[in-house]
Amino acid sequence: MKYIWLNPVVKAQYDENILEKFLTSKGFVEIFPREDHANIVREKYKKVLETSESNVCDMRCPKSVEVFQNQNKDWVFPEIEPILIHVARELAGREDLLGVEKWIVTPCASLKNLGERLELKDTKFITWREFIERFSFTEEPKILHKSPIPMGFFKDLEETPEGESKGDGFKNPTNWRIVESMFCKDGCHNGDGIINE
Ligand code: SF4
Repeated sequence: MKYIWLNPVVKAQYDENILEKFLTSKGFVEIFPREDHANIVREKYKKVLETSESNVCDMRCPKSVEVFQNQNKDWVFPEIEPILIHVARELAGREDLLGVEKWIVTPCASLKNLGERLELKDTKFITWREFIERFSFTEEPKILHKSPIPMGFFKDLEETPEGESKGDGFKNPTNWRIVESMFCKDGCHNGDGIINE
């Protein structure tokens, strides 16, 4: 038996029963985090914002962060890992899941690579695209026109600027404090590890 965590984009693309049947046939049991990692992450940003005088970069999308760091933006790049990495850390450390393989399915190669670099115990990162190829899952996905993780993650913290996807800049660059950004057009449902075409 192996445990598997699926990202919200994959969950939104398939019928729950079909997905479960397929995973079971391949020896996987779906697992879920106990903690509310989205909220934990949001609270971490809140703390950074309380003490920061500069614009703060959203660190949830590694590819976006890379773009901004390469542009030498004079922003704060807080050491806050993406939500998916928070989930993986919880699952890797859970007593009840010890000693069994845990597979974390990512929407893109960059989150997979980030996860792999952590070398978490008994934990494997794989994109959904790789996973279905490896296990020959042929079910047609629903094509998503919007992300289950839409822009606006920080809206309860403060006003955020209106972001453009693809890390190519933002409108209205005055009075920013936190810069929310997703590299893929409209969000993670267009990640390179997702079938959405
Ligand atoms: S899927 Fe795209 S938007 Fe989402 S984290 Fe990966 S690169 Fe960023």
